[in-house]
Amino acid sequence: MRVRSNRRSKDDSVSDGSGGRDLARDKELLIDSLKRRGYLRSSEAVMAMEKVPREEFMPPEIRSMAYVDTPQPIGHGQTISAPHMVAIMTEALMLETGHRVLEIGGGSGYHAAVVAEMVRPGGKVISTEIVRELAREGADNIRRAGYQDTVQFVQADGSVGYPDGAPFDRIHVACASPGMPRELTEQLADGGFLLIPVGSGMFCDLIRIEKRGGKVRKESLGGCSFVPMRGRHGF
Ligand code: SAH
Repeated sequence: MRVRSNRRSKDDSVSDGSGGRDLARDKELLIDSLKRRGYLRSSEAVMAMEKVPREEFMPPEIRSMAYVDTPQPIGHGQTISAPHMVAIMTEALMLETGHRVLEIGGGSGYHAAVVAEMVRPGGKVISTEIVRELAREGADNIRRAGYQDTVQFVQADGSVGYPDGAPFDRIHVACASPGMPRELTEQLADGGFLLIPVGSGMFCDLIRIEKRGGKVRKESLGGCSFVPMRGRHGF
């Protein structure tokens, strides 16, 4: 009688952290589901999410979960955003090639890579991350996945924006902010959009600000939950 074992022999062991899952198939199913649920609508956003390997932005031990639609821990008490939230924000930002984008809360670098796919050629993403180790790891992930020409990862308190890189066509905040930091609207170009979750972590409103002719127009895109913002304008 042959006994089936869950243990892999040395020969068929996998070293890519996929845990033997067919990640390409998982990705296809996830993207279909994001389209069906209405989170992904434009062909550009679909292509961006098809192209970026989310597993490359996750710790090796959880790469098998890369295409499960939930946030996942990336260490230091932080998370990589859920794919549906990246899809919602990518669509809501109305990104175009050539745009200059500022991200607050770079984390793993995944979201920045998706944005990079939307703005290149010619565009630029500056991604700020306040936790030093994450900024280093995020920059490593960006390099490994080949986005270093478009994405600049910086260790900085993004709650005050990034004045050296302003103005930006788009700014998106990937952590929950207690309010609307004045610096972010100031650093937005005319005709630009800012996307920011405002509220206390678990319960925030995703707010989109449009700046045009010196005026700002504010609209709420619905509820969401994010890790809390730190730094000068954080909690
Ligand atoms: N976009 C990320 C999501 C990261 S979660 C991804 O795709 O993985 C939010 C991140 O915001 C955390 O890594 C946290 O450390 C960072 N953060 C919190 N406050 C910040 C601030 N003031 N400036 C820059 N980053 C901040």
